[in-house]
Amino acid sequence: MKSITVLGATGSIGASTLDVVARHPDRYRVHALTAHSRVDELVELARRHQPEVVVVSDPARAAGLASRLAAAGSRARLAVGPDELVEVASAPVDIVMAAIVGAAGLAPTLAAARSAGSLLLANKEAIVMAGRLFIDTCRRSAVVLLPIDSEHNALFQCLPPGHAGGKGGVRVPVPANPAGVNRMILTASGGPFRQRDVSTLAEVTPDEACAHPNWSMGRKISVDSATMMNKGFELIEAHFLFDLPPARLDVLIHPQSIIHSLVEYVDGSTLAQLGNPDMRVPIAQALGYPERIASGASPLDLAAIGRLDFEPPDPDRFPCLGLARAALDKGEGAPCVLNAANEVAVACFLDGRLRFTDIARIDAAVLDALGDAPAPTTLEAAVRLDGQARDAAAAQVEDLQR
Ligand code: NAD
Ligand code: MG
Repeated sequence: MKSITVLGATGSIGASTLDVVARHPDRYRVHALTAHSRVDELVELARRHQPEVVVVSDPARAAGLASRLAAAGSRARLAVGPDELVEVASAPVDIVMAAIVGAAGLAPTLAAARSAGSLLLANKEAIVMAGRLFIDTCRRSAVVLLPIDSEHNALFQCLPPGHAGGKGGVRVPVPANPAGVNRMILTASGGPFRQRDVSTLAEVTPDEACAHPNWSMGRKISVDSATMMNKGFELIEAHFLFDLPPARLDVLIHPQSIIHSLVEYVDGSTLAQLGNPDMRVPIAQALGYPERIASGASPLDLAAIGRLDFEPPDPDRFPCLGLARAALDKGEGAPCVLNAANEVAVACFLDGRLRFTDIARIDAAVLDALGDAPAPTTLEAAVRLDGQARDAAAAQVEDLQR
């Protein structure tokens, strides 16, 4: 039996993870589940999965929760607040799924990188904010790092097992050069606005932006997919995970989301990983690794799909992709700045305080102002830089509203 902690259990990735876990009661035992504010869902998850610990990181939501857990038949210990979240993330379990959204995930994800057997990384913002620190932490602890983002999971599956780290998961960073890798190509669906008249993008609503054609995800990553900042962050994530220079990382639009990414080798071979767009596929791959276990996803029916299409991304439609590339070129503080600005801008868009097209404007202005910051080499430095960029973004939002 492997013990597992799910950070961000009430989210979309959390739900898919627990779905796969519940299919294999002989393999996994849930140690801890964490949530920020959705306590009703957390109580239900505690009833169903019987964890030893539950964490609510927002203390304002914890009142009366202990008795509700007991009433639901859960014997879990209740831990409350962000410090307790990091404490619980530090428990030496076999597997931690890092599926908190945004910068809030950095501290618990780093804690898990130090103490877990395997770290399943969905929280891409953690590696965008502090790529070097994150990779160094994983390397020092010898944690088995397994990417959950479907593109990076696909790339991992397309690398030769030796260089993928064998039993060691992604040996961080993966030495792509000796493996004969020429390029890595990240596929992207293009999101809900791939074909929409660009002149109408300023008018789109949060619900339109969150209506992804292929994937069902949390609202923040859904907006990032609509702007393609998500793909920009994934370039940064791939750069740190696989140690490839930005010039050898490409993005290809593939509207059906069947090919999840490709590795091109120096001999002219290109390997791809295919599957239906269902996050349980990469989650099961990582949970079972190096074995294969059932995920609940339906098998791929290529005859029914009929055709797979590809096109290059349009830089005018998706300026955020260019901003992420610019951040990669600027240096290692810039991705942290860009991530913070983007979190503020996306939250303001979801609240109805910004137009969709303002997201890229805020991101660009803050990157311009603070993008020369040095790489954060400690958690404290990353949190400080994140805070500075958030303040700068908030000031930009106010300026725009004046
Ligand atoms: P979500 O919004 O559905 O869930 C987010 C989870 O994070 C929730 O459990 C919530 O309680 C927790 N959380 C939110 N704010 C928090 C805070 N301040 N402190 C502690 N916990 C907090 O998000 P999601 O779609 O599941 O995405 C989770 C992560 O996985 C993101 O980083 C996203 O980029 C990445 N990811 C998601 C998908 C997907 O298909 N959903 C695919 C690839 C990568
Ligand atoms: Mg992805």
